[in-house]
Amino acid sequence: MRKTILWMFFTLISLNLSAQSQRLEEIHGKTILLFTPHPDDDVFGAGGTIALLNRNHNKVYIVVYTNDNKGSYDPDMSSERLARIRRAEQEASEGLLGTPKENILWMGYDDGMLEYAPQPKLTEEATAIIRRIRPDVLLSVDPGEWYERWHKTDHRMAAFNTIDAVRAAEFWLYFPNQKLQQGLEPYRVPEMYFFYPAPQEANYWVNIESVADLKLEAAAKQVSQFEPSVTKYRPDWDAKDLEKAKAEMRKEQPRKDGHCVEAFRYATGFIQY
Ligand SMILES: [Zn+2]
Repeated sequence: MRKTILWMFFTLISLNLSAQSQRLEEIHGKTILLFTPHPDDDVFGAGGTIALLNRNHNKVYIVVYTNDNKGSYDPDMSSERLARIRRAEQEASEGLLGTPKENILWMGYDDGMLEYAPQPKLTEEATAIIRRIRPDVLLSVDPGEWYERWHKTDHRMAAFNTIDAVRAAEFWLYFPNQKLQQGLEPYRVPEMYFFYPAPQEANYWVNIESVADLKLEAAAKQVSQFEPSVTKYRPDWDAKDLEKAKAEMRKEQPRKDGHCVEAFRYATGFIQY
């Protein structure tokens, strides 16, 4: 019995090592699933990596927890209209990165309200998505490794809910109706990359130099997320505002060894007991 456990332990270690030997930006023909709290965090946090994954003929799916329908100062804006605007911007933005709009899945929760969504339902929904898509690699907001981290609202819940769903997805007795009624088999996610890591916990960097300009173009499609459109909505840019926004994003983009990079925390699993 003990021998079997030891053997399993070493097999797991070697599996982890072999998984790490293939760089994220070099994988081809795999299935990638990314969970994002809002329809822009995927682009800001991992847009360059998404472009590289699409370029390498991977199948990329983006799950958006909320419709981002609150963040506007415009007194003439409504939640319904803002949700429509943000959805169209996200489709345009991800489209530039190579993700077709039918691969964007909307969970539809209201902006800022994810913490108050019924938790079992939220985890059940994310679990079903994981069991259906069966990703080779999963990306999500970093829940933090050693302690719970402060995040803005929605980011906290998206971070914790996604890893709760990753755990639930591998044990069929969580939400057994998914197997019994929907034919969704349990699934163990082999590799995870978390974006928005704390600097001291980032352990993986993707060189996005070749797609850095494309990332800025994609981010700029999210017009309503930037001034002056946040204060008074307009669907397009003045050339000088666009240049200013791009210059700020360029400045904020992390650099490592002289290259433009995106930072992640890489993980292969969680202690399950
Ligand atoms: Zn966000």
